[in-house]
Amino acid sequence: MTAQLNPRGDVAVLVPAAGAGVRLGPGAPKALRPLAGEPLLVHVVRRIAAAPSVHTIVVAAPAADVEPVRAMLAPIAPVIVVAGGAERQASVAAALAAVPAGPEIVLVHDAARALTPPELVESVAGAVRAGHDAVIPVLPVVDTIKEVDAGEVVLGTVDRSALRAVQTPQGFRRSVLAAAHAAARDPLTDDAGLVEKQGVPVVCVPGSEYALKVTRPFDLALAEHLLVAGA
Ligand code: C5P
Repeated sequence: MTAQLNPRGDVAVLVPAAGAGVRLGPGAPKALRPLAGEPLLVHVVRRIAAAPSVHTIVVAAPAADVEPVRAMLAPIAPVIVVAGGAERQASVAAALAAVPAGPEIVLVHDAARALTPPELVESVAGAVRAGHDAVIPVLPVVDTIKEVDAGEVVLGTVDRSALRAVQTPQGFRRSVLAAAHAAARDPLTDDAGLVEKQGVPVVCVPGSEYALKVTRPFDLALAEHLLVAGA
């Protein structure tokens, strides 16, 4: 059954899903690889659609796969599908351009974070609604972190208490994200980085272990186990 989005919601979620997924090994574009029998993108869209504030979902698909992705997602939720770009940033910009008038909160969420709970979508959106222009979900860093030189010789130990591992969805006031993308010069791997360059404060909220990014084969195996365990 197709999920209904909330016509009175104030949140648009952009899902960059046009990456190749080279680190997962040879195969289809990453967002289309199966996780427990369904593509990663299906899992992620289903979870976003379950978040009550979501009004619009825009997916940036691999340019060659726009039509099949549209057909694949139609039974899951009403989704706008556009062609992504060569870099993640271009994919996000293409999705942002397709957001209709209405939602004033825009979240950007990697398709690779397929098990992200709807509650995290709501908590990031809630922090933007409460007045923050830019919000990121983060986890503490658990490993000791070393800085090394080109020869893998340790230069020093970084104080991990001041470090955070950053996840998505990242949330923004719509005008702030649009201005950051309009001003963007060099491609960055996250949207908060663009907003930081504009001098806008970025606020952290607690992330979720379930929002892990499926990047390598190990992550896919872990995500399968979590799904079996009820994630
Ligand atoms: O490559 P990486 O894992 O950092 O990609 C993060 C997200 O950005 C993934 O969901 C991927 O599909 C997306 N992406 C994209 N367009 C690109 C490259 C990556 O939408 N050109």
